[in-house]
Amino acid sequence: MLNFEFKNPTKIIFGKGQIAKIATEIPKNAKVLMLYGGGSIKSNGIYEQVKTALKDFEVIEFGGIPANPEYAILMDALKIIKEENITYMLAVGGGSVIDGTKFLSSAALYEGSEPWDILKNAIPTKKGLPFGTVLTLPATGSEMNSGSVITRAETQEKLAMGGPGLFPEFSILDPEVVQSIPQRQLANGITDAFTHVLEQYMTYPIGAALQDRFAESIMQTLIEVAPRITANPSDYEAAANFMWSCTMALNGLIQKGVPTDWAVHAIGHELTAQYGIDHARTLAVIAPSHYRYNFASKREKLAQYGKRVWGITEGDTDAIAKAAIVKTEDFFHSLEIDTKLSDYTKDYEGTAQKIAARFTERGWLGLGEHKTLAPADVEKIVEMSY
Ligand code: NAP
Ligand code: FE
Repeated sequence: MLNFEFKNPTKIIFGKGQIAKIATEIPKNAKVLMLYGGGSIKSNGIYEQVKTALKDFEVIEFGGIPANPEYAILMDALKIIKEENITYMLAVGGGSVIDGTKFLSSAALYEGSEPWDILKNAIPTKKGLPFGTVLTLPATGSEMNSGSVITRAETQEKLAMGGPGLFPEFSILDPEVVQSIPQRQLANGITDAFTHVLEQYMTYPIGAALQDRFAESIMQTLIEVAPRITANPSDYEAAANFMWSCTMALNGLIQKGVPTDWAVHAIGHELTAQYGIDHARTLAVIAPSHYRYNFASKREKLAQYGKRVWGITEGDTDAIAKAAIVKTEDFFHSLEIDTKLSDYTKDYEGTAQKIAARFTERGWLGLGEHKTLAPADVEKIVEMSY
């Protein structure tokens, strides 16, 4: 096991009817900017619950943060934060609203002239403007981690940022919000969370027994809950297990003491930036090719995953490892998620070269848990996903 430090300061408030607790978590004299997305919270009752909880606070609203939070729109919110002397933010939404709020948390205290530099130069945020979240879509784990991914349409870029100053102070996880989530987003949430676990688990060497079993249990729970939650998003027990699994998949716990990969995400972000494909779907496109391309180094772990998570017993290590990749694809297909780039765009020719060239330009010369995947390898992985 590798050396590690672990601190996660986010307070989780989990369960039915917990949104009202916002009032006790935000400092009494705060001037609050409430951020949300394209309007789902106005049709499912979450907006009213939040506004009722905030009735004694001075609140300014900023709605309209799109999926894949857009830099230009966030810059409008930054202007409000500065002009209105906002002291606290409340993100009400999924990963996009929460990530957008994290960017603002960092940008509000950033002293440079161009906040995009935080992303471009990967500047870690040590201190941000404080914020809490009300999660409306289980998927990303952003509600309990310090990472954020921001899109800039102008340059077709999607880059990540983070730092110890970007953990939410609190996050409210009420599984009842799942009721109104459309099928497409439920499938995305399951797939994103599942791939988060894979990125932290499907590495070598093997040796962190407890982290492996945490990871396997999250994947098993997601597999178990997926048909229940897609059949009936109002199934509270299924929603609660789905929600907590997504948070646990990326709150730092399972990545401690192990090497983590993240190549699937790095490549997937390019597909969203170029084609606007939903984040989770880009992962379903890249993950199978990534594991096939890196089969030799990930073989033992793939076989462990095949045996423990999918219950595959027939065949030798190679056969079980290969079958495990097929099981993963079948799982995505069972959620009606396609796993080939050509299923999403007819213009896929040249994508691999373009991504490899961008990675070279950015100096991303070694991806994966041992930083061994060069842009030439990335090119081959993307080609395999066509
Ligand atoms: P999202 O982009 O936040 O939301 C997707 C859609 O779901 C939106 O159209 C939203 O509508 C709708 N929605 C949300 N909650 C709903 C509800 N309760 N009922 C009905 N509709 C609802 O999706 P996401 O998958 O959570 O976030 C994806 C983003 O997170 C990507 O940019 C991805 O790169 C990033 N990400 C971040 C991390 C991290 O650790 N920070 C990890 C993985 C991915 P409205 O806009 O109308 O509300
Ligand atoms: Fe993700």
